[in-house]
Amino acid sequence: MAGLSAAHWFARLGHRVTVVERADGLRPGGAPIDVRGRALGIAERMGILGKIEDEKVTVAEPMPVLDGTGTPVASLDLRWFANETDQDVEITRDRLNRILLEAVPRDVEFRFKESIASITDGAGGADVSFTDGRRDHYDLVVGADGLHSKVRKLVFGPESDYVRHFGYYVALVDLPSDRKWERAMLNVPGLTIVVRDAGDGPQAMMLAASPQVDYDYRELDVQRKMIDDFLARVDAWQVPAIRRAFTDPAAKGFYFDSVSQTHMPGWIKGNVAVIGDAGHCAALLSGMGTTLAMVSAEALATTWTEYGADAEAASAAYHERLRPYVQQCQAFAHEGAPIMVPPTQQALDARNAMFREYAARAAVAEGH
Ligand SMILES: Cc1cc2nc3c(=O)[nH]c(=O)nc-3n(C[C@H](O)[C@H](O)[C@H](O)COP(=O)(O)OP(=O)(O)OC[C@H]3O[C@@H](n4cnc5c(N)ncnc54)[C@H](O)[C@@H]3O)c2cc1C
Repeated sequence: MAGLSAAHWFARLGHRVTVVERADGLRPGGAPIDVRGRALGIAERMGILGKIEDEKVTVAEPMPVLDGTGTPVASLDLRWFANETDQDVEITRDRLNRILLEAVPRDVEFRFKESIASITDGAGGADVSFTDGRRDHYDLVVGADGLHSKVRKLVFGPESDYVRHFGYYVALVDLPSDRKWERAMLNVPGLTIVVRDAGDGPQAMMLAASPQVDYDYRELDVQRKMIDDFLARVDAWQVPAIRRAFTDPAAKGFYFDSVSQTHMPGWIKGNVAVIGDAGHCAALLSGMGTTLAMVSAEALATTWTEYGADAEAASAAYHERLRPYVQQCQAFAHEGAPIMVPPTQQALDARNAMFREYAARAAVAEGH
């Protein structure tokens, strides 16, 4: 999200851009994500707001909320929460990825299955060597490489200096079409399991409260085992089948990561910048990750262009523009956590009572 947005803006403002992506294409997968607040204006300026709205996800009905035995205890309508403005749009990650890619000017060079190996920054720009042995010189290197950013590690320091575990792990997988899936959210203290269909087929999501686990985040088998251990607490509803989907190495749309935030004192060092999750991940529970990715990409491209060769002035202006918004977005994650993953039975009961009250109020408002 951050990388494609940055490619759009830098190219559009007259720079020659190379995009380097480790995967062999755009990374597919993910639950529906939100384009909100300031990102809506950016989408409009990028000329893609109409497309995003055309392909948005509309969830018409509230979702049943189940207890650990699979019994319905409340219902959840996501429209009750978290909208920054009435115009906020929810869209699948894959669709937004495609729309952003289509918005990247044709002269931008894409190099897939490629990564940066080293960066040597100096007065006249940065010398970069790539994993295929190639070397090149750039005025600016933009690390838009997500929570576990390599650019950040190479230039700013180790992940442990900046990434703070937010207390949860998240997993997603597309569910097989060999059976019918019931759309609902099941909760036990510290664990949430959701089945929903955002228009591209049924998908399961797991959110589990957990202290930080030291594992190699690139090892998919380790990730599958961790998910299976989290889900082993529940044997009701569709959970056994969901566990099978998560542990199937052939399953599509698999995604697992810690729910974390990135906190950095500065996002630009010399001729290297980090944007999106690499620089200021707000954590999945904030619902602001994509918005921040788009906002930081546009802000960096415009300030960098505006201040020309004066990197120091560009950096100062960028930080001033972005810092308050990042802080605001990161704070949203604290509101999302107790709603999505109540930690205790008492908190869960109180949350469900709140959902029932909201549902009753909504029914009155709709005249039922
Ligand atoms: C597969 C996937 C599924 C996701 N699902 C969700 C979701 O359901 N809900 C949610 O809120 N957020 C999800 N996210 C995170 C969400 O995309 C980000 O929080 C947000 O959009 C900010 O985007 P970003 O571009 O900063 O980071 P990301 O979207 O994480 O993109 C980073 C990109 O950099 C690439 N990359 C990483 N390391 C290197 C490297 N060393 N060299 C080259 N390329 C590299 C990655 O392959 C990826 O394409 C998901 C991310 C991914 C990758």
